[in-house]
Amino acid sequence: NRRIVLASRPVGAPNNDNFRLEEQPIPQPGDNEVLLRTIYLSLDPYMRGRMSDAKSYADPVAIGAVMTAGTVSRVVQSNNPNFKEGDWVLSMNGWQEYAISDGSELMPLGDNPPAPSYALGIMGMPGFTAYMGLLDIGKPQPGETLVVASATGPVGATVGQIGKIKGCRVVGVAGGAEKCRYAVDTLGFDACIDHHADDFAKQLKQACPDGIDIYFENVGGKVFDGVLPLFNTGARIPVCGLIAMYNATSLPDGPDRMALLMQTILVKRMTMRGFIIFDDYGPRYPEFAKDMQQWLAEGKIQYKEHPVTGLENAPQAFFDLLEGRNFGKVVVKVGED
Ligand code: NDP
Repeated sequence: NRRIVLASRPVGAPNNDNFRLEEQPIPQPGDNEVLLRTIYLSLDPYMRGRMSDAKSYADPVAIGAVMTAGTVSRVVQSNNPNFKEGDWVLSMNGWQEYAISDGSELMPLGDNPPAPSYALGIMGMPGFTAYMGLLDIGKPQPGETLVVASATGPVGATVGQIGKIKGCRVVGVAGGAEKCRYAVDTLGFDACIDHHADDFAKQLKQACPDGIDIYFENVGGKVFDGVLPLFNTGARIPVCGLIAMYNATSLPDGPDRMALLMQTILVKRMTMRGFIIFDDYGPRYPEFAKDMQQWLAEGKIQYKEHPVTGLENAPQAFFDLLEGRNFGKVVVKVGED
């Protein structure tokens, strides 16, 4: 059983010294347990938070413990009457090839799922996050302007496409011309601005001639600075993630924007609300799954994966994700199905 454990806690950007690849015997399932073989491993930005021991909504990964992760796996041995050999399940195996489960946290994916890895992306945590954050907090109305950054990632791409379904003008923000082209040509966004551009704030303003009614916050940093002056009265900001600062070791340079932010919230009567998807919305998963299945079947939602092969390549793929070198949902193929 090859597994990747947290070797040390990163200061700033994580690197190879923070991880260790280990080999252990394949564990044996006890009474009522199943042995799972990881087929697909999900890499997600939240894992940076789990590497740190700063207080957060979830406990950190302990030093020496297997890195946490959602996985799609298959049952290879079962002592649990609810599962049989060969079953596909959504599980939390972490960064390893095999894991034991008592079945209580497994979600069956059916006998022969057509796209099993979708359970980690568009039909799973990121898709659900986009759906609830946008619809429940963003409350999109036809004709409103919605801005979303990380526009080609699994959350941002889904937010923008649901925004289009709800009749919004959708402006994406992404890193580089290729991602921006994809957001407009394939995802159907009305515009997409490259946040690396020197005149990013000016371009964003031009793309939002009627101001911004909803800003779905995935990144923070410079993107938020560009967005802040453009808010309309009554704007809503679902605060989903702040990836621009996950590796930060200090507050950003420059003038303190706190007073400006508070003043804008007051004068524009804005709503900013953070959320943690399963803590806040877990029971509403079926509502999301029904809508998303239908939109996918109707071709209204496009979805792109960034495939990586081999458990040993997970750390580098994770560094790339934090640096914007992924293009779509990062899924590591760990074992043959
Ligand atoms: P993404 O693939 O969107 O995340 C990686 C992307 O973030 C990169 O490709 C890059 O895109 C962008 N990025 C990285 N650094 C910066 C930066 N400094 N400025 C602007 N963009 C940057 O992953 P997800 O779709 O899974 O996650 C999107 C966000 O949603 C994350 O912040 C994540 O933490 C959050 N999240 C929150 C949840 C919750 O419950 N609240 C649940 C799930 C996700 P580009 O090259 O386009 O800049």
